[in-house]
This record gives sequence, structure tokens and C-alpha cells, in this order.
Amino acid sequence: MKTKKIILIILLIVILVGIVLAFAFAGNKKNNSDSKYKLIASNFASYDFLRAIIGDNKEVELTFLLGPGKDAHSYEPTAQDLIKIQESDLFVYIGGEMEKWSDKVLNSLETNKTKKMCIADFVNTMEEQEIDGAEEEHEHDHNNNEEHHEEADDHNEEHGEGAFDEHIWTSPENAIKMVNALEQEMEKVDSQNANIYKDNANKYIEQINEVDKRIQEIVDNKVRDRLVFADKMPMQYFISYYKLKVSAAFNGCSTETEPSAKTITYLQNKIKEDKIPVVLYIELNPGRVAQTIANETGTKAMQIQSLHNISLDDFNNGETWVSLMTRNIDILKEALQ
Ligand SMILES: [Zn+2]
Repeated sequence: MKTKKIILIILLIVILVGIVLAFAFAGNKKNNSDSKYKLIASNFASYDFLRAIIGDNKEVELTFLLGPGKDAHSYEPTAQDLIKIQESDLFVYIGGEMEKWSDKVLNSLETNKTKKMCIADFVNTMEEQEIDGAEEEHEHDHNNNEEHHEEADDHNEEHGEGAFDEHIWTSPENAIKMVNALEQEMEKVDSQNANIYKDNANKYIEQINEVDKRIQEIVDNKVRDRLVFADKMPMQYFISYYKLKVSAAFNGCSTETEPSAKTITYLQNKIKEDKIPVVLYIELNPGRVAQTIANETGTKAMQIQSLHNISLDDFNNGETWVSLMTRNIDILKEALQ
């Protein structure tokens, strides 16, 4: 608790210094910086959807706060990030256990100018589900031994209140809800370009529907309905939307990548029992564990895009929610048919 208070105090000092600096610098060039709308999205899906909605409007500056290649669960905002949020017109976040930092940041910011948008309020959220095979929460996810008990208590408290699964973007249904909500918010931020935003959003929704249709076709023709992840599994909304079953080494918010021997054996038995042909691992993971299990069971390791985040390479290549989800089509075909 003590460490948390100190962190909070440091955070407040940083914010105050940030505000002072921001005013000092903003004084002279206020007109320049005000000519643009500044948007900040905490996670990749919100960023990608806003990017599609904005299109080529150069008046709007969009920042991907987490940034490519990083783990959303270990992210903490830097002093610079806080200044950026403070100066933004719209800040889109998900919240929950994954973005625990957002509460503190939002409460301590002077956000008269900044519109705060919790995108999770606009989708159908699910409670965190127990995943077949996944290691217990307390066995991982809390690397700091000193704070272990305290963190575990906090966590249980939140679970008691029915913690929602933050990985909302993985179902096409939610993705479309997110696009619509973000588009409506953009109309408020910049009403002059409302028609363009509406057009761009509709075009993107068409693309999402197209990928959805192609995945649904594979699901309709499946010969088995279980996916096995030798990794964490942040695709609960996806699994539920397509009515699939899943086994995984860890739940969605685990920061672990090394399952115990017991877990590996469990997954191997599941693969043999259900004649599963593909062992999955998610983006940003080299897939070593999946490869080991695949070798052991005579199956194939393949990377699925959970879109929890995007790799730096994919980001630089301009990949999108749609293009990355499209990549999953061939993988699902091999895994389910
Ligand atoms: Zn997660």
C-alpha cells in the first residue's frame, strides 16, 4: 500500500510539472497546436478503428499510446504520455485490470478539454471465464514477491465484483460496435467532417463483415470445435462469438509464457484425445512452447493474431485489424477443418 501511495504522489507531481510545462510551451504557439484535433487511443484496436474513421484528414493527429510490440498488461504511462493525454481532445481507453493505470490517470488529470471515452462501455462485455487447462491466477501474473499478497487481494476484490474481460476487440460484433461508437464520437469532436467519418466507418464495417463471413464459413464446415493455445488466451469474445471451445496454458491477462510441465502434459493429452492438428500461440510470442508441444504430438504450431497488440513489423507495414484477422482465416481452416 505504501509503495502505491508513493507512486501516486510521484504521479501527481509529474502531472503538475507537466501542466506547468505545457502552459509554458503552449503560450507562444497556441494557434498552431490548436489547429489540429488530437486523439489518443490506449490499445491497438481503438487506434486502428480511429485511423480508419479519420482516413486522410490531416487536421487530426492520432496517437497509439501503448505503441506496437508492447504488452498491454505491463504498460504504465510515462510523464510524456500523461502530458499527451492532458493535451488531447479525445482519450479512448478500455480500463479494467488491463488498464488499471487509467483510473488514476483520469482522476488526477485536469480534463476539462479532454473527452474521456471508455470504449468498453459501448460493447457487450463478458466476465472473465475459466479457460480449460489454464494455470491458476495466483501461480503467475504477479512477479513482485513483496507485493504478492496485496496484489492478489486487490485482484480477488475485483473478481468479486465481476471483473470484465478487457479483450473486447476480438469478436467482429464488438469490433463493429467499437467502430460505430468511435465514429459518433468523432462527429462530436469534428462535426464539419461528420459525413466523411460516417463514410469511412461504413467502409471499414463492410470489411469487418467480410472477414467475419469468411471465418463463419470455416466454422460452419468444421470437423472439430476446439482450439488449443500453448500460450495465454485473450480471445474469449472470439471463441464465444463463433461458439468454439478452447484449451489454453494461461488465461487472457497472464504475463507468463512458460507453462508448468503439468500444464504441458494436460494440453498434449487434450490434443491427442481430440485429434487437434494445430497448436496455437499469439502474436509477440516466438512460439517455442507451442513448437515443443507440436513436435511432441506430431502436430503443427501456428501463430494466431489475437490483436492484443501488433508487432512492430506489422505496424510499420500498415497492417490493420482487418488484415490481421484475415491472416487468421488460413490458420483456423487448418485448426478446425
Ligand atoms: Zn490481456
